[in-house]
Amino acid sequence: MRAQPQASHYIGGTYQESQDGTPFDSLYPATGEVIAQIRSADDAVIDEAIRTAKEGQKVWAATAPAERGRVLRRAAEILRERNHDLSVLETLDTGKPLQETLIADAASGADCLEYYGGLAATLTGEHIDLGGSFAYTKREPLGICFGIGAWNYPIQIACWKAAPALVCGNAMIFKPSEVTPLSALKLAEALTEAGLPDGVFNVIQGFGDVGAKLVAHPAISKVSLTGSVPTGAKVAALAGEHLKKTTLELGGKSPLIVFDDADIENAISAAINANFYSTGQICSNGTRVFVHSAIKDRFVARLAERTSSAVLGDPLDEATNIGPLVSKQQLDKVLYYMQVGQDEGARLVCGGGTANVDSLPDGYFVQPTVFANVTDDMRIAREEIFGPVLSVLDFDDENDVIARANDTEFGLAAGVFTKDIQRAHRVIDQLQAGTCWINTYNLTPIEMPFGGYKKSGIGRENGHAAIEYYSQIKSVYVEMDGVEAAF
Ligand code: NAD
Repeated sequence: MRAQPQASHYIGGTYQESQDGTPFDSLYPATGEVIAQIRSADDAVIDEAIRTAKEGQKVWAATAPAERGRVLRRAAEILRERNHDLSVLETLDTGKPLQETLIADAASGADCLEYYGGLAATLTGEHIDLGGSFAYTKREPLGICFGIGAWNYPIQIACWKAAPALVCGNAMIFKPSEVTPLSALKLAEALTEAGLPDGVFNVIQGFGDVGAKLVAHPAISKVSLTGSVPTGAKVAALAGEHLKKTTLELGGKSPLIVFDDADIENAISAAINANFYSTGQICSNGTRVFVHSAIKDRFVARLAERTSSAVLGDPLDEATNIGPLVSKQQLDKVLYYMQVGQDEGARLVCGGGTANVDSLPDGYFVQPTVFANVTDDMRIAREEIFGPVLSVLDFDDENDVIARANDTEFGLAAGVFTKDIQRAHRVIDQLQAGTCWINTYNLTPIEMPFGGYKKSGIGRENGHAAIEYYSQIKSVYVEMDGVEAAF
């Protein structure tokens, strides 16, 4: 299976290849086959991306916001028309089952482009009455923004960064994860076809060294990273040295709290979505499932029964629920934590190791895994695993579970299941997390701001909130009388 792009990079409205960049392969995680060969951006490619972005941004910033919106909405329609092909490409690059990519990847990217396209003409400033004289504010672009993607939702992440950046009149240079380099190029094609001026959205490939070069580049005004906490710390330090604005979407170890009055089947559905969707490779996953001790045994037994019915296998078969992990490196990491959980004394309820898929013996498959009797100090309850490993922890008391849920360096997301409306809001109010759910989990519509407290991030993506992070306000005082001076 091949998914070779015309060239590695997309710059100035066209594909471009680098002469000197480090070559690397993109693999299909279900077979380990090479599907594309890519080259990292060399200095000439980076210089060209910056040059065209500067030119494109001038044209784009002078384009009426309503027209910018039309371009984004046309690009949304192009992604929708191509959804099937884009979903197959995303499945090949990530290993996520087609059942998911058909509805969650390019489709959510299209929703994002449509949403910001719709906001475009509404982005206005204020008039401030100063009693005769007045002031007004304007929302202006930042310049060239640099987006850095993770590998779990490649085209969605590219859209979540590009759409709010572009609607504010910025240009963006986007570097996908080296693990999943392909679909961002397709977004760039769609934007060009939709009428985006050349250079306004460029894609360059590479590893962390290419990322760091761009973060430090004087022409870049803002950096938006989706990635792990250690990478976030490096990017923030480098950006801080150059006083660049940053948005950081980082990792998590989020709590999902199930009270004894919850609808148990719904709570189990949420726990499944919060741990096994995308083979557990989702930053906001509710990997610490706190279950009230009165319902714990029932919850765990039914969760195990439903988990054992998951269809694991060929990601291109639409009946498949769970595909492989994204890479051999991720497979090794997840298997390591499955062993750590057993060594720490958690009770292995189901799963716990590799999964054999007869037709795909070289795929990076693991069994969806549930641990019960997990305690707060265990590493599987403290460290982000980023795989299908669910930990059930018991609790009895509301205040106690809130304190335990918050006892983490992360703060990306949290969920509560209860039929008691006052308790739901009381608990949510005390949880230290940027994105919360009551009686559901992991739904992230584009209208709702998304981002982390504590080490899970800085800034917000999505919703009106993202506009604040891709624009700056200019205040203008207008004197309507004379100017007095002391002498
Ligand atoms: P990662 O941190 O290894 O890499 C992320 C990106 O950063 C890649 O494109 C990589 O090339 C780049 N990078 C690495 N070092 C860099 C440096 N020094 N300077 C600039 N760029 C650099 O993350 P990953 O393994 O690709 O993704 C998984 C992680 O991402 C998990 O921790 C997950 O929780 C997190 N994530 C967060 C969100 C969110 O919205 N909060 C969404 C998806 C994934």
